[in-house]
Amino acid sequence: MFNGIFHIREPQNEPVLSYAPGTKERAELKAALEDMKRNSVEIPCIIGGKEIRTGNLVEMRAPHDRSLVLGYYHRAGTTEAEMAIAAANEAKHAWSEMDWSSRATVLLKAAELLSGKYRQTLNAATMLCMSKSCHQAEIDSACELIDFWRFNPYFMTQVYDDQPISTKDVLNYMEHRPLEGFVFAISPFNFTSIAGNLPTAPALMGNAVVWKPSSNAVLPAYYIMKILKEAGMPDGVINMIPGPGPLVAPPVLNHLDLGGVHFTGSTYVFSTIWLTIGSDIRKYYSYPRIVGETGGKDFIIAHVSADEDALIAAIVRGAFEYQGQKCSAPSRIYIPDTLWTRMRDKLLDEIATIKVGDVCDFSNFMNAVIDEESFDKIVDYIEFARNRPDHKIICGGTYDKSEGFFINPTVIITEDPRSKLMCEEIFGPVVTVFIYPENEYDEALELCDTTSPYGLTGAVFAIDRLAIERAIDVLRHAAGNFYVNDKPTGAIVGQQPFGGSRASGTNDKAGSWLNLERWVSPRAIKETFLPPRDYRYPFMQEP
Ligand code: NAD
Repeated sequence: MFNGIFHIREPQNEPVLSYAPGTKERAELKAALEDMKRNSVEIPCIIGGKEIRTGNLVEMRAPHDRSLVLGYYHRAGTTEAEMAIAAANEAKHAWSEMDWSSRATVLLKAAELLSGKYRQTLNAATMLCMSKSCHQAEIDSACELIDFWRFNPYFMTQVYDDQPISTKDVLNYMEHRPLEGFVFAISPFNFTSIAGNLPTAPALMGNAVVWKPSSNAVLPAYYIMKILKEAGMPDGVINMIPGPGPLVAPPVLNHLDLGGVHFTGSTYVFSTIWLTIGSDIRKYYSYPRIVGETGGKDFIIAHVSADEDALIAAIVRGAFEYQGQKCSAPSRIYIPDTLWTRMRDKLLDEIATIKVGDVCDFSNFMNAVIDEESFDKIVDYIEFARNRPDHKIICGGTYDKSEGFFINPTVIITEDPRSKLMCEEIFGPVVTVFIYPENEYDEALELCDTTSPYGLTGAVFAIDRLAIERAIDVLRHAAGNFYVNDKPTGAIVGQQPFGGSRASGTNDKAGSWLNLERWVSPRAIKETFLPPRDYRYPFMQEP
């Protein structure tokens, strides 16, 4: 029992290190990369704190160098899924009864460990396993995850601080209970920070978690488990069971104790999960909380008054960093004809300077896409465009999977504003531009709002304030994260709470108290000091 009022001060965002030549961090990261390339690892399932080896070994290779084996992981199956649920249920009581400040200290300590001695381990794992450049790894596996682990304890106090009013003789209070049952966290391949946040956000609020990381990102997931263990996370609070979703997920999703799902990934998989739960909703002890952040078809719309250099930089960084594999990456652009004429050659000249290759060569701005399935899917979109007279590939459109899954940055012009390239999530380095007549800005905004089913991120580029206001107004529901004169990627915890609606998810805003609120089930308690001792009301008396 802790007697004292514990305060968590508002955190600052973790500074992004530069990795410029001659810096300490560059030397340390290079050493960590070499070490990880030389020493392959064997990763077990981690259930109730124990390492479980199933013997179903799956090889992990670097997407940019198919000859580089990073190690193997033991694939979980139904047995391990059931063991993980049992371990979570067992660990839940002691963890949820623990003082909230003690739970907070585990994540605060994890943040310090990651900011220090584990920084380059997790960055190197993210770079090699997911093919991220050092900068992309630094802003993800270091800074964003540190921020999640420092800010969420602070946001937790905001949730707990929400208390009802009381009167002279009645005390009202609210207990923010964890959900009944366990939470199932299912994470995507593309962000180590999201992988680390999906299980730890519900755990912080007193829940126990079964976590299925992406099969393409098991290496960083393993190091996240190590950091949490060293930070003092009790055994069984988070149980890691790597393996393919269709195999591992069904026994967990169908368990009667399922209290919630914390998912990030594609729209299709999320709707499958929702359908699975909904198909027999009466069997659960409570309605499972379903939180899912999903796909996007993010946009940039430029007004004729836009600053063209800022627009070009936003397109290049937004669409091509991490090979366009960010849920927030702009992949459809609307540009007025006169502006396009002025900027076209400059944009193409900039893209021509981009180098694509291995993550260990720091001069590469882009690396490989995650796997062969993804490579083939992106190539299909490129070939679709090549074979259509109303589409024109004006740069890139070339690819090679002989050594790694490399696709060059590609720009396509379409005359069809509702082409599938303007509607569907491609999740690769392919951006499609629709050029509209300068005097049809309102029509372009309307198109932008109604073309795709998603509503995740978007940006307007304009100097003219009326044009900015018009975009903010018309595109109200087109993006849950909207940017004015900036690229629509790179949301920062505590600054731009992240998430979208429509087909992009439940918009529960990772990196804010709104997400944590989903992992509690509040109990309102009324305590009356002087209760009535007679049932009769004054109005019942005879005059
Ligand atoms: P994915 O949907 O293929 O996989 C996500 C997770 O779901 C993985 O762990 C996967 O193994 C699992 N899974 C697959 N089939 C399943 C099933 N039938 N049942 C249960 N789980 C299953 O997504 P991905 O390729 O890993 O990630 C890319 C997608 O994630 C893109 O659509 C991207 O837009 C989205 N994303 C969204 C956000 C966001 O905040 N909105 C952030 C990152 C990624």
